[in-house]
Amino acid sequence: MELKSTRCAICNSFNNSHVLFPQRLPTQNLDASPYAPRRKRDFFHYRIVKCKTCGLLRSDPLVDQNDLKQLYFDSECTYTDENENIPLKKTYGSYFVNVLKKYNIEKTSFLDIGCSNGFILEKALEFGFKKIIGVEPSRDAIDQASSSIKPFIVNGMFDDKMFEKDSFDMITFFQTFDHIAEPNIFLQNCFNVLKEGGFILAINHNAKSFSAKIMGEKSPIIDIGHTYLYDLSTMKQIFKQNNFVVHNVFPIKNTVSIERLIQLLPIKSSTSEKIQQLARLLKINKCLLKLPLGNLGIIAQKLKTT
Ligand SMILES: [Zn+2]
Repeated sequence: MELKSTRCAICNSFNNSHVLFPQRLPTQNLDASPYAPRRKRDFFHYRIVKCKTCGLLRSDPLVDQNDLKQLYFDSECTYTDENENIPLKKTYGSYFVNVLKKYNIEKTSFLDIGCSNGFILEKALEFGFKKIIGVEPSRDAIDQASSSIKPFIVNGMFDDKMFEKDSFDMITFFQTFDHIAEPNIFLQNCFNVLKEGGFILAINHNAKSFSAKIMGEKSPIIDIGHTYLYDLSTMKQIFKQNNFVVHNVFPIKNTVSIERLIQLLPIKSSTSEKIQQLARLLKINKCLLKLPLGNLGIIAQKLKTT
């Protein structure tokens, strides 16, 4: 696949950047396997550069948009076992319900972008939304959704043509935004389908977190799937430049199983497997911890035009 150079999504510049990490890609043809979320670590990534003006990190060069779409359509969902789903539901669910309460958000209609097997849609129903919709490119992830949720998932890459204007009271995207190749278009599309006064809650990686700093190139954020990597400041900036009012940008505490924590360590997979076996033997693999693992959250709103 051919690689193309990319622009800073905030400054729109091409060459105003310095290289943080040279590219590390599979030697054989690139296929969808490194695009599976939460797969075993392979340390593949494109060249990572940092914008000299705004500090936004990005993959440069990167595969073409259409190739990227296909890779996501073909990618497999590898995290359906309980150990993964319960902590994810807990982390995202607790922020989700707090935002609903704090901003007294209407619960008529809800959209989750990059919804995977739909676990957040289940939460949205539980929290009282009347109408729920998810969008997910991976067919394999949708196949793994529960039968009650599956009918509400659209297979595809999110686009505002999928929905009427002013459709949703709330949109969420969890671990999705840093995979988006054209984040400004993506946010404009979100803006269009949100109702006036509607909210966005997004959670993704924080490029300036402690773990990202100490792990460097071995950090799980330096990953082939990440087109852009944001910190608190660049995340706020890109939402503001797309007409959102930003209420809060904040570091996230993740609920994570010990097993998952071991998988995230920057070590060889054979060593990781041995430590995981030990954790299973000690029956601590499913224990949950609450740690600031290096994610950030943002709460933004499309203001009413009065
Ligand atoms: Zn920039």
